[in-house]
Amino acid sequence: MSKSNKLQEVRVFAPASVANVSCGFDVMGFALSGPGDEIVARRTDESGLRISKITGENGLLPTSVKKNTAGVAAQKLISNIGFEGGIELEIHKKMPLGSGLGSSAASSVGAVVAVNRLLGSPCEREKLLVFAAEGEKVACGTAHLDNVAPSLLGGFVFIRSQQPPDVTELECSKPLFATVVHPHIEINTEDTRKILRREIPMHKAVQQWGNVGGLVAGLLKGDYGLISRSLQDVIVEPIRSVLIPGFREVKQAAMDAGALGSGISGSGPSIFALSSSERTSQEAGKAMGEAFKAIGLENEIYQSRINEQGPKILQER
Ligand code: ADP
Repeated sequence: MSKSNKLQEVRVFAPASVANVSCGFDVMGFALSGPGDEIVARRTDESGLRISKITGENGLLPTSVKKNTAGVAAQKLISNIGFEGGIELEIHKKMPLGSGLGSSAASSVGAVVAVNRLLGSPCEREKLLVFAAEGEKVACGTAHLDNVAPSLLGGFVFIRSQQPPDVTELECSKPLFATVVHPHIEINTEDTRKILRREIPMHKAVQQWGNVGGLVAGLLKGDYGLISRSLQDVIVEPIRSVLIPGFREVKQAAMDAGALGSGISGSGPSIFALSSSERTSQEAGKAMGEAFKAIGLENEIYQSRINEQGPKILQER
């Protein structure tokens, strides 16, 4: 291909995601239509990868390729395909950091999708998963897939195994609407892992895997009743929820508004709800936001249908 035929610049939107989804700690996640990050990948004359610009995060994120999830993920892809030219990345954060919405994963996913497209799409989307997951190591120490997989593949995703990655998309045969409410408090992701117990009683394990199976079956069959009964977490939520002020009231507000279920988004502090109609998801969002406000917590409400598409190429030239 001559230089003039090559793409010079690609801009990609990569969505936020809800990991865990109540019973599915570390094995389930779904993609939101918004918010998300925008990543621009551009060819440069100078060889190597660099991050030329970051907007929207008040100077909190590293511009070093090795420390930024987008940089690490893109570098893994570039090394794997043996590209020796120059690329610069722009990261436009359009979602809060450390909120439980998979912000670091959205950057990794946006970066690998943009760079892959810029270089003529040498990798299938599924293959990009391992590169994007490498980015997560910078954010949380391990190559977790529970945000990266839904953000990259779209829809509802089930992760049977992290290593080696074994990921299945669960196509829900009925529409599902997500609400996520982000209270303006910070909780440390590391703390939320540290407080978890290393061992669980057998009766709780049985309940939990019953719910995981029920949620998977409910999604595939489009059975709202089964989905609703299965959106219960008897292991992680009782422990982690103590870190989120107002958790019980906010969850109750979502359920009273008619949501199918509600729980912690990722490791929090955001709380999600799933509903069978757009109207219910709006009412749940309003009620959840008010419940946080009642205890003095400002918050943002995000509403969207489950995003089946995943990342989107916004512009290329
Ligand atoms: P979230 O709760 O949004 O999923 P994570 O816990 O996954 O957030 O990661 C947030 C951490 O990852 C931040 O502390 C940040 O320093 C680090 N990080 C590195 N690169 C990025 C990036 N491009 N976008 C967001 N976070 C990043």
